[in-house]
This record gives sequence, C-alpha cells and structure tokens, in this order.
Amino acid sequence: MSAMIDTAPATVRADDERRTLDACFLGPYGENDTLLEKLVVEFLRDHVYWRRNFHPEDPPAIPTHAASHRDYQAFEARMRRELHALSAALKKSVPFHSPRYIGHMASDLLLPGLAAQMLTLPYNPNNVSEDAAPVTVELEVRVGLQLARMFGYCDDPAREHCAFGHLTSGGTVANYQALRLALALKAFPLALRAARVPDIGVPEDDWAAFNLAPSASIALHERWQARLAGLDADARRDWRARVEAERIEQLGLAEFFRRHPDLREPVVLAPVTAHYSWSKGMKLLGLGRAQLLRVSEAGMRMDADALEALLQRCLDERRPVLACVGVLGTTEYGTVDPIDRLVQARERFAARGLGFGVHVDAAWGGYLATLFRERDGRLRPRLDILADHAHFPQPHVYDAFAALGNTDSITVDPHKLGYLPYGAGAFVCRDHRAVALLAEQADYVFHGEAPKDYFARHRRLGQVIPEGSKSGAAAAAVYVTHRVLPLDHEHFGALPRQTIRAAEAFADAAARFAARMADVVHACLPFAPDSNLVCLALNPAGNRDVAVANAFVQRLQDELRCDPRQPLQTKQFFGSSTTLRPESVGADELAAILGRLGLDAASFGPAADADRLVILRHTLMNPYLIDTENGISYIDRYFEHLETRIRALLG
Ligand SMILES: *Cc1c(COP(=O)(O)O)cnc(C)c1O
Repeated sequence: MSAMIDTAPATVRADDERRTLDACFLGPYGENDTLLEKLVVEFLRDHVYWRRNFHPEDPPAIPTHAASHRDYQAFEARMRRELHALSAALKKSVPFHSPRYIGHMASDLLLPGLAAQMLTLPYNPNNVSEDAAPVTVELEVRVGLQLARMFGYCDDPAREHCAFGHLTSGGTVANYQALRLALALKAFPLALRAARVPDIGVPEDDWAAFNLAPSASIALHERWQARLAGLDADARRDWRARVEAERIEQLGLAEFFRRHPDLREPVVLAPVTAHYSWSKGMKLLGLGRAQLLRVSEAGMRMDADALEALLQRCLDERRPVLACVGVLGTTEYGTVDPIDRLVQARERFAARGLGFGVHVDAAWGGYLATLFRERDGRLRPRLDILADHAHFPQPHVYDAFAALGNTDSITVDPHKLGYLPYGAGAFVCRDHRAVALLAEQADYVFHGEAPKDYFARHRRLGQVIPEGSKSGAAAAAVYVTHRVLPLDHEHFGALPRQTIRAAEAFADAAARFAARMADVVHACLPFAPDSNLVCLALNPAGNRDVAVANAFVQRLQDELRCDPRQPLQTKQFFGSSTTLRPESVGADELAAILGRLGLDAASFGPAADADRLVILRHTLMNPYLIDTENGISYIDRYFEHLETRIRALLG
C-alpha cells in the first residue's frame, strides 16, 4: 500500500515534536511553573513601568504610607480572605489539565495564549473599536486572516476578495453571525429591486433576487457601490436612503415579507447532529425552529443524498434556503460532514435558481485543518498526512477539509482545539466585502467615504460584530498563539497530530479491552471515529435488553462525572456520555450496533429508557495522554480502570 512509511524518521520527528510540546503548557504537574511565573512577573513589571513612564512628573496619587492605614489594612484583609476562599473553592474545579480528564472539549491552556492574555488584562483594551483598543483590534483582524489561511480562504488583504474574520465569545455567537450575514446577503438584492435601482443587473423578480448565491449577491453589492461612487453627493445620498429604507435590517422580518408577498420565509438546512446553538440562532434571527430543517444522517455524517432531496423539495415548493450548514467535527461524536458535497450542491442548485450559502460549523474540528496545510498555505496531499497515522484522514474526511476554501463562512473555537482560555470563538467569511452589509451604521455616516485600506476598514469592528464591548486580551491571546505556533502542520499541527494519535491508540486499546472482557461485557466502537472524539458502546454479557444496558452505562458514567460533593482525588478518570438515536446513526446501522452488542433490537423502542442507546464519549485532546517520558499510557490505564469498575458492578 502506498501509505507504507519508513518509521524511523517519523519516530525521530515525533520525539522532536514532544520536546516542543514540553514547552507549550503549564503541564499536568505544573512542570512549567517557573516559565509561566517568570513571564507573568516580567510583564507585570513591564506594565507598571509603562504606567510610571506615562507622565513621570505626576506625583503618586496613592501616598507611600497608605499601606499603614487601618482602613487600607482592613480592605486588604477582606480582599485576602475572599481571594483565599475563592482559591479554595476553585480546587473543586474540573481538572481539565490532567490526562485523566477525557470528558468534554477542554484541556490545558497554551502558555503563549495564557501569558498574552494575562499580560494584556491590566491594559484592559476593548475591541469594540480602535479608539478603545488601538493595538488589539488590529490583532483581532489579523487573527481573522490567520484563520482564513488555515481554511484555504484568501488571506492577502491586497486582494479584493480577501477573507475577513473576527472573534466572538464562542461558537454559538459565531454561528449566529453566520445566520445574520446569510440573511443580509439574501435580502439586500431585494432592497435594490424595491428601490428600483437601474442598470446594475438587479434580478427581474423577487424570487430570483432572493435566491442569488452569496458570491453573486456580493458582486451585485460591489456594482451598487461603484454606481454610487459615480454620482454627485446629493444623488448619492438620495439613492442610499431609498435603498436603506427597503432593507430587511430596516423593515424587520414581518414588514419585509409583507412587501414581498410572493416569498416565503427562508429555511436553514443543518444535520440532525448539529449543535443546539443553531436553534438558538434561528430564534435570535426572528425565525423559528420550524425553519431549521434537519438533514438526516447516514453513519453519523450528513447524508448528501438526503440533502439533495431536501433541496429539491425546497425548490419545488419555492422555499428559499438561507444556508446549508455542515459540521466539521460534531460536538457529540467528532464526525465530519461531507463539506465537498455541500459545496457541489450549492453550485448545482444556484444554477437552477436556488442560491444559498454553505456555512461550516467547525467550532470543534476547525484547528484540525492545520494538519492539512503546508507551511506555505498549500493543501497537503492525503498520503502525507496519513503517513503519521493509522487511518486519519479517511478519504471522506480529507475531501471535507480540502473543500473548506470553497465554503462561504466558517465558525471555529480557539477556546476548544485552539487550547486557549474562554471566551474565544471566531467567525470567518470567505469574502470580506460581504460584511459591509452587517454594519450598524454605514461607513460614510461617521467617516465620509468608506476607507479603501483593508485594515482601516475592518478596525471598526463594533459596526459588524454582534457584541459590543469585548475583550482585547482574548484577541491578543489568540494572535500571539498563532504567531508562536503558525497554523500549519509543522507548527500548530503538532497538537492535533498528538490528539489523533491518541484517538487511534484509544481505538486499538478499546479493541483489546473488548477481546479480554468478552465474557463479562460486550464492548465496541459504535462507528469509526473521524477525528479525536471516540465513543464506546457497552452491554453486560448475557443481557439482551436495551434499557438494562443503558442503566448499566449510566451507572458507569455517574462514576466518571464530576461530583463537587466528593474530593477530586477520589476520581480516577473523567469521561462523558452521549446517546445514539436512529435519526443520527440511521435505523439499519443502529440495529447493526445493537446486534454487535448482543442486544435485542426489539427491546429498542418508545419506552423511556429504551428509545436511545447510551454510550461513553471520550474527548482525546490532552497532549499528555501518552506519556513517553515515564512510559505510561493513560489510555491503557483508563481501560484498566473501566475493567475494574465493570467487574465490580457486575460481580
Ligand atoms: C462547541 C460547539 C458550538 C458552540 O460553541 P460555544 O463556544 O460553546 O458557544 C457550536 N458548534 C459545535 C459543533 C460545537 O462543538
């Protein structure tokens, strides 16, 4: 097979890679304490010097002897007491840093990000605008370009179709931003039509105007801007006012559709496994869950044929489609939707008059894209990536990542696989010109003409982001991290590479576990993992009843969950759980999984505990799961722990 590799150089590299990873985190044991301490103290002092050097001629406002006053001391005492209480309480926190934590999507924090965030905090920049954050707003715009490059979007601000991205509090708000932008792009051509703007190629009827593909809508907006630029100031103002008065952002959904009675409200297509932020986002937009159409899945991934069928139905029923959402790494299973097929569907249906955007929810899996990027930004061949792994990336996973550059927008969470502090989510769109439609107040209101320079234009972040005031320190953390670890396979890629290795080791360990436990429990991976989330299905040997199996897995999971009433140290491992339902796996595949577990498919049904299969879920993002230093595999230890617990529970 062509993936045969010479293991020696790979091992050497893996070793070098380990040494770099050694410096990346505070570490499970706090190994890098002196490094972090040095950084924090150094930059705190640096901050103080900055204050002192602002106007050194100003005398200190706080007297030197202030600390000897009773009230000062009383305040300090109260502060200390409360901080001690907080610090003590925080010891009950979830030990995300530990390789014994394989539950949810959290792990240790990258030192460059943590240090950058701590260093920036006392400057307290507010990234709502350049006025309040002269340094960090620029960094945030640059983060957008760093992420764009990782996904294969154009990241050259000199090019007119360069991408644009910004940070949000998290993936939820980034997904919401995607919906807002999709609606703005869809509705704007109708405003041009209603205002009877001549000669720039506005479509002939409402249906056509509401169904342009995003790229066509952006092109139309550009022609409109060019047309405006050619008018004298009065005419320009009048035309702008006429168009603004017809925009959905001015009229609101109800009045907009009242004025366009032939149009129905648009729908969003998303897989059944989509995160619940999509339902939240629909409601924020003034649409409802009824407009969120769930595309069924085959083998945990969006069924592209079902998508096409649904799109055909929308076309037949003249139902506009706002966007199709594909998930790159589902929250529950880490599976990857066929993004390439979504992009193909977009092209095919746009040609037939049903235009819509493709948005990728890569909140979880986005940073895996670093594995697919060369240092110079080119896409890596699949076999090069495969050389580091047993199975990753499967062809369908590779095709999905390779298609990212052709999508319209992407959500990614630096606070998940970017190993950065909360809240750092990000929204990136392929063509920066689109976001002019989101501006709360058009550029010219405050600043005369819209600036031509990319950075000057996008530093007015507050105009387009859903939030107002927001953390500049978070932007600094993301930017510095991407500078220290550029988003390609040679740098940042070391982290996801480690997690994929861990996931593959986990799958192997699960197979060994299943073999040695066959007389006690039936165990299997319910589906082949696409990335670094691995699920495990279990059923006590001899049991045929789904409800009994669910109760058993639930008991195991209760031991693996965080319990603030017990000392942390009593926990050996932390895991999480999820469920399999016919809507996500497909009825046939679910039946096959039940069969492999020795469960009677007839016992699966509407009864409360039998309408789903409860399984264990493991997020393998901790970089120290395989501790080569001490020759310990926390993955093997986890399975030994499971074995002990299962024997105890069933004994
Ligand atoms: C985590 C996640 C979200 C939500 O992101 P938050 O940062 O929690 O707001 C959305 N989609 C997917 C696929 C996710 O994994």
